[in-house]
Amino acid sequence: MKHPAPSVFDIDLNHGQLKLRRTKIVATVGPASQSPEMLAKILRAGVDVIRVNFSHGKGEEHVKLMHLIRAVAKKVGVEVAILGDLCGPKVRVGLFQGDAVTLREGSTVTITVKDVLGTADLIPSQYRGIVKEAKVGARVLLDDGNLELRVVKKQGDSLLAKVLRGGVLKNKKGMNLPDTKMGIPALTEKDKADVLYCLRGGADFLALSFVRHAQDVRDLKLFLRKHGASLPIVSKIEKPEALVDIEAILRESDAIMVARGDLGVELPAMKVPHIQDKLIHLAQRCNRPVIVATQMLESMIDHSRPTRAEVTDVAAACRAGADAVMMSAETASGKYPLEAVESMDAVCRETEAYRFYDSGGDLRPARLAETVHESGVELADALGDAVALLSRRLMVHAVFALTQTGRTAQLVASDRPEAPILALVHDEKTLRRLRLVWGVYPRLVKNQIRMDEYMKAAEAIVKKEGLAKKGEYLLLLAGSDLGRSQGTNAIHVHRVG
Ligand code: PEP
Repeated sequence: MKHPAPSVFDIDLNHGQLKLRRTKIVATVGPASQSPEMLAKILRAGVDVIRVNFSHGKGEEHVKLMHLIRAVAKKVGVEVAILGDLCGPKVRVGLFQGDAVTLREGSTVTITVKDVLGTADLIPSQYRGIVKEAKVGARVLLDDGNLELRVVKKQGDSLLAKVLRGGVLKNKKGMNLPDTKMGIPALTEKDKADVLYCLRGGADFLALSFVRHAQDVRDLKLFLRKHGASLPIVSKIEKPEALVDIEAILRESDAIMVARGDLGVELPAMKVPHIQDKLIHLAQRCNRPVIVATQMLESMIDHSRPTRAEVTDVAAACRAGADAVMMSAETASGKYPLEAVESMDAVCRETEAYRFYDSGGDLRPARLAETVHESGVELADALGDAVALLSRRLMVHAVFALTQTGRTAQLVASDRPEAPILALVHDEKTLRRLRLVWGVYPRLVKNQIRMDEYMKAAEAIVKKEGLAKKGEYLLLLAGSDLGRSQGTNAIHVHRVG
C-alpha cells in the first residue's frame, strides 16, 4: 500500500520513546519524601540525584538522612548521587509578634539589626551588614519579592524604609537586597560546618549558594582541601553579580544551577527565561552540567497533576538542553512527591521523543555537533566533535566512553548526540557523579587492561539492555594508554556481531 507523502502540516502524536531518558532528575528530600518507603518509590521512579537542603534541619539529621539514602538505594539496586546544598548567605527577617505582621503600602517601617520581636513597623533583619551596606534608594525585597520596600534614610543602627508593595510578612521569610553589594562571603561559617556534615554523610556534590565571583568557588575548594577532601562544586547562579563573572565561575565550577527562585527576585522574573537559555548554552560550551531549578512543578505541592504551563516549562528546559531538572518543595514537603517525579519523568521522555525521533518512529542518526568549543580546542574537544560526525554517518546506537574521572563522557555529552553515552567506569564515586550529566549512563566495569575486553564488555551491555542489534555500530572512546586519566585519544568503531 502506498503511503501519502507527509505534509508539513502533519502533527505526529505517536513518536516512539527513548529507552533511556536523557535529561536527569534532581529531587529534594524533606518531610514528604524521607521515609525509606517513599525514598525507594522515588528512586524507582527515576530520580538520578537527591538534593539535601541545608537551609532546613540540623546537620546531624542530614548525615543520618544521607546514610539512609545510601542504604535505600542499595536495597533498590541503584546508585543515586547526593547533592548537599549549602544555604549560603541567605538573608532572612527575624521573628514577629504573633508570628506574622501586615505591612501597609505607603507606610514607613524601621529595619533593625537588633534581636527584637518585630511589629508592623519594625522589621528585624538577621543580616548585620544591612545598615552599613544598603544605600538610600536601595530596594529591600521580602518573601520572594512579594513585598517591596525602599530605603529612605539611615538612622543610627537602623534603616527607615517606605513600603512600596505591602502584604503579610511571616517569621523568617527571605530578604533580598538586589541593589546592595553585600560584604559577606558566599561560604559562611554555617556552610563550613555543613560541608563537614556533607563529608561525613558521603555527599557526591556540594552546591554553593549566592555565588558572585569565581573566588567564592575557590574558597570552598580551599576549605575542602584543608580537610583533605575534594568534591565537585555546583555553583548556584542566583545573583546578578554572578552573571557578570559567569565565564570565570563556569571554569572554576564543576556544574552550575540556574536557581530561578532567588534569581527571579534579584532580577525581574521576565528576564529569567533568557538567562536560563543563555546559561544552558554557556555551560554546554564549557562542558559543564547545568541544572534548571525551582517552581518547575510548583502546583504539584498541592495537586496530583501539573498545570499545562508547568509541563511547558519543563519541556522548554529539556529542549534547551539542560542536563537536569530539579524539584524543591514538590518532593520535599508537597502532598504528591511520587507523582511529581513521575510527571517530571514523563514530560522529559515525551519531549525527548519529539526531539530525537523522525516521523517513521526510527531513532535519527546523531546530529553533528553544534556546540562551539573555544578556539585552540583541546584534543578531547575535537574528539567529541569527531564522535558526533561518526555517529551520524554510521547511525551509531551507543557511544561508550572509557573514563577514569568521567570527563570524557561529559565532553561527548556536551555535543548532545542522539546515541546514549555509556560511560565505562571503575569506581562508584565516578559512577554517581555522572548521574547528573545529560545522556550519560555510567556502568561499572572491571579495571581491565586490554581493549578487546572493553569491547566485549560494551557489546554485552548493549545486548543485555537491548540498545543495539547485530550489524549496528558502536563507538568506544579511550586512551591508547589504557587506564590513564585524561589520556583519551582514540575512537574505536565496533560492529555488533
Ligand atoms: C533557588 O533560589 O532557586 C534555589 C534553588 O535555591 P534555594 O531553594 O536553596 O533557595
